[in-house]
Amino acid sequence: MEASSVILMGFTASLCASMGTTVGSLGVLTIRHLSRRMEDGLLSLAAGIMLAATFFSLLLPALDHATADYNSEMLSAFVVALGVLLGAGTLFFIHQRTPHEHFKTGREGASASRLSRIWLFVIAITLHNFPEGLAVGVGFAGGEITNGISLAVGIGLQNIPEGLAVSVALLSVGYSPMRSAMIGIASGLVEPVGGLVGAVAVSTMAAFMPWALAFAAGAMLFIISDEIIPETHQNGNQNLATFSLLFGFVIMMILDVALA
Ligand SMILES: [Zn+2]
Repeated sequence: MEASSVILMGFTASLCASMGTTVGSLGVLTIRHLSRRMEDGLLSLAAGIMLAATFFSLLLPALDHATADYNSEMLSAFVVALGVLLGAGTLFFIHQRTPHEHFKTGREGASASRLSRIWLFVIAITLHNFPEGLAVGVGFAGGEITNGISLAVGIGLQNIPEGLAVSVALLSVGYSPMRSAMIGIASGLVEPVGGLVGAVAVSTMAAFMPWALAFAAGAMLFIISDEIIPETHQNGNQNLATFSLLFGFVIMMILDVALA
């Protein structure tokens, strides 16, 4: 398959996946409030989908490509392991440097600390949409259309609760419903950017493919472990969070098998 069509597919698919964020964000116009319990459950569901997408649509293809490239399963495992650690390490580095403090300025009706907590959450979701887009973009590597589509569907699905959570959080600190929805939608626009970067990387340098898939997997694992799981286990909803994650995982696993 031509490099240009892989790039076009990767970009279009990641743009479609970001529509999930749009749908979820617009949900704020009807669903004005989410209980903490509901929010923890929804975000855990998203994390479960991300987790399964990481394994079935990124790590397995990464290992396949690497084994074909290097003619050795052992070497393939090492390359993919290194790629995962690089992806996670890069995200860690970016996280350390994100200037969250910029958003501490107060606003009427909400305490400064609550406002900055909400903005931290908005930034966190926005940031994590980049590796998600990257994942979708690299998912089409080598013209593997079904793999790319199953990733785009899974990522798109888990964007719905994420977009809703972002917009409802903004509404709760005093932004108007329309503004909350718009900021939520904007947080999803990072995704096609990631998609384009990923698709260009894998289609211009074939040797880069297992690395890119593994890198995206590491970035996703970092976010799930560093952000979503601790966040959703903080408010006494651990059991719900755990089972929502498992439920999201099996949904994505079934989706992956069904589309393959
Ligand atoms: Zn996500």
